Amino acid sequence: MTLTKRMRKNPTATLRLTLDVEALRGNWLALSKLSEAAVAGAAVKANCYGLGVERCVPTLRDAGCEMFFIAHWSELEHVAKYVSPSHVSVLHGPLNEEEAQFCLSSGAVPVINSVRQAIIWKEVGGGLCHLMVDTGMNRLGLSPNDISNTAIQELDVDILMSHLACSDEDNSMNSRQRMSFSDLLGSVKYRRASLANSGGIMLGQDYHFDVTRPGLAIFGGTPRRELANHIRQVARPEAVVIQTRFLMQGDTVGYNASFKAETDMKVATVSIGYADGFLRSRGFGQKSLMFGGQHLPIIGKISMDMLVVDISSVPYVTEGDWLEVPFNLFEEANASGLSQYELLTSLGNRFTII
Ligand SMILES: *Cc1c(COP(=O)(O)O)cnc(C)c1O
Repeated sequence: MTLTKRMRKNPTATLRLTLDVEALRGNWLALSKLSEAAVAGAAVKANCYGLGVERCVPTLRDAGCEMFFIAHWSELEHVAKYVSPSHVSVLHGPLNEEEAQFCLSSGAVPVINSVRQAIIWKEVGGGLCHLMVDTGMNRLGLSPNDISNTAIQELDVDILMSHLACSDEDNSMNSRQRMSFSDLLGSVKYRRASLANSGGIMLGQDYHFDVTRPGLAIFGGTPRRELANHIRQVARPEAVVIQTRFLMQGDTVGYNASFKAETDMKVATVSIGYADGFLRSRGFGQKSLMFGGQHLPIIGKISMDMLVVDISSVPYVTEGDWLEVPFNLFEEANASGLSQYELLTSLGNRFTII
């Protein structure tokens, strides 16, 4: 069904996300430099960690990135609008013949994660691929015991890779994984080796090998403290005030009436809710939105599309005003119990990215 011809184009959204492309570019360049002799790629799965392929991928491409990692086959079409499919690797690999044929027809590079995937890839006549080996995370990847399998030995492997389970902390598992990975390098032919994600890059040169695969830090996350000096915030969400009202002492706000006004006060209803990634766990404690440097405390439960803030300190705030949503990923993660990854990827799709 089509909408009426008289219908105008969408009015300006009441949620916007300012994407600092200079910071994005700078973050990737910093990670590239921190990777020293290794070449940095970019993990751009989940719509660039929620920040949008259309602005992020071209920015990274223009900064010099030539290797893009996605998880799903469904993500390929979008990313390949901006970069050659031969520069895109699909981490989940081909689960069945349909996916393998799709990969072949697209020119993307599959990451082979098992003997089964290697056989499927070979059966469709696939050539160049990457190979993910498991070194202790026990998530996705070839078991080291299977590396001698003929189907694996016959693969044309560009990047031999593994993934670190604990790169965001000082954990002995990091060096154990690095040693297991190094031990595997002699067991199969490959062109380049890759182990480090964002956190792994900061573990030092021993972890860099030939290619690094940062994701989170490109988009402003700092999984390790050492990254803080190198990484800038990329995303700045803002939401519009859609109503203001006065509360009398004893009035309650929101679902389950969980907030009760102790005095008369002025409040504003803001167009952001948990469907926009502002989960209820982000409203607990002393959380606020910001207006002109003023903290506006969140009161009551977060709704799906709205939340309410106390504007008693700025009673002139009115309908149509934009409020800043704090999005320093390190601080917000600490305060909410969510991970920096979850904060980014749960943003939802109602923001206008500007
Ligand atoms: C997501 C992912 C990355 C990027 O990790 P970050 O922690 O976001 O830097 C790298 N490699 C693999 C295999 C991944 O799945």
